[in-house]
Amino acid sequence: MFQPDIETMEPGRRAAVQRERLEALVRRLQAADSPYWSEKLSRVSPGQELSALPFTVKKELRDTYPFGMLAVPLEGTVRIHASSGTWGKPTIVVYTAKDIQVFAEVNARAISLAGGGPEDVLHVAYGYGLFTGGLGLHYGGERLGATVVPASGGNPGFQAQLMADLGATGLCATPSFAMLLAERATADGLMERLRIRYAVCGAEPWSEAFREKLEAAWGGIDACDIYGLSEVMGPGVAMECRESKGALHVFDDHFLPEVVDPATSEPSGPGELGELVLTTLTKEALPVIRYRTGDITQFVDEPCPCGRTHWRIARFSGRVDDMLVIRGVNVFPSEIESVILDEPNLAGQYAIVVDKRGTMLELEVRVELASDESAHGRDDIAARLRSELAERLRIRVEVIVGDPGYIPRQELGKAKRLFERTTDADPFA
Ligand SMILES: [Zn+2]
Repeated sequence: MFQPDIETMEPGRRAAVQRERLEALVRRLQAADSPYWSEKLSRVSPGQELSALPFTVKKELRDTYPFGMLAVPLEGTVRIHASSGTWGKPTIVVYTAKDIQVFAEVNARAISLAGGGPEDVLHVAYGYGLFTGGLGLHYGGERLGATVVPASGGNPGFQAQLMADLGATGLCATPSFAMLLAERATADGLMERLRIRYAVCGAEPWSEAFREKLEAAWGGIDACDIYGLSEVMGPGVAMECRESKGALHVFDDHFLPEVVDPATSEPSGPGELGELVLTTLTKEALPVIRYRTGDITQFVDEPCPCGRTHWRIARFSGRVDDMLVIRGVNVFPSEIESVILDEPNLAGQYAIVVDKRGTMLELEVRVELASDESAHGRDDIAARLRSELAERLRIRVEVIVGDPGYIPRQELGKAKRLFERTTDADPFA
């Protein structure tokens, strides 16, 4: 553990630290020389509960481009990062020297959650430059005391060779690039010389099945999920520990998490999926209050076997943009997918049809049998899925189980899963 006093802090004590920091943050922002912050917090007093503070959305970063949300003078800052925007201009994020220290500290913690330590040679294959990934983990590795190799992206053959020659024991990379490196190392006969124990993987979604493959491809490493977003800090907002994969510890002494219903903005109940909302408690240059991340997760209540007391959130279940609202109930396609993937007689292919013909929306899930042999069990499978989906989603769902090949295949790009039905013509036709 990198900072055991902080990471295992008694929850009540941490809550007091969070309250204190939140109050100081509001005071600081109200005193900042900034029209954005004066307006944002005009109806707020410093001692108020988090739930009384206004949300922040990505659009505000765009509307105040490039420096309108800065809470300190630009002269007081030391670094700028940017993430590519979908609106023609990048999202600009700015750091003071202290922000960079915190950035390093949380990434040092993150690497140690995956099993890293000062004795490691840490190969960082995230992109360097404006993107936060490379430099975030780089500084984190150095703060931990590891020997960091700033490999950046590209050239997998050269990178695999370098990892073998320099004795890399830890790898930071996107899951897909980590897999590519493993395949290349195997093809080039380097695997026997490689000593990788763990990988810190993030910046793109990856499934449990992919994790199993990736861990095995490297000969049985721990591949752990790191989460972050540049608007909040970059990587190092939350991290899976190797002792209990499947949930991520949020470094909640710096980033205060909430999970809210995306439609009503009310807190999601225990065990309910919702949108992750983050408040930066200690950030100086570009803090955010109740930032709507758009990422879907839920709190995980059980204590973690690793001994850390940071709140945990489940691995992400997609984006708010994918959410359907059917008869007033939020439905996340990822929940439907996980029910389907649990049924061994089905192929993984499926389609979700939102039937808009009536006054009330109806939801239909179409799946296909894995093989012709399971056709005799079709009715049982459909009944089982109907009841499991109804229990999970809390609405009635129609299920159609087709023959192998029933679901239309897409030759290029992402599979089309969602269909709308507005006429009597079948949406598959
Ligand atoms: Zn843990």
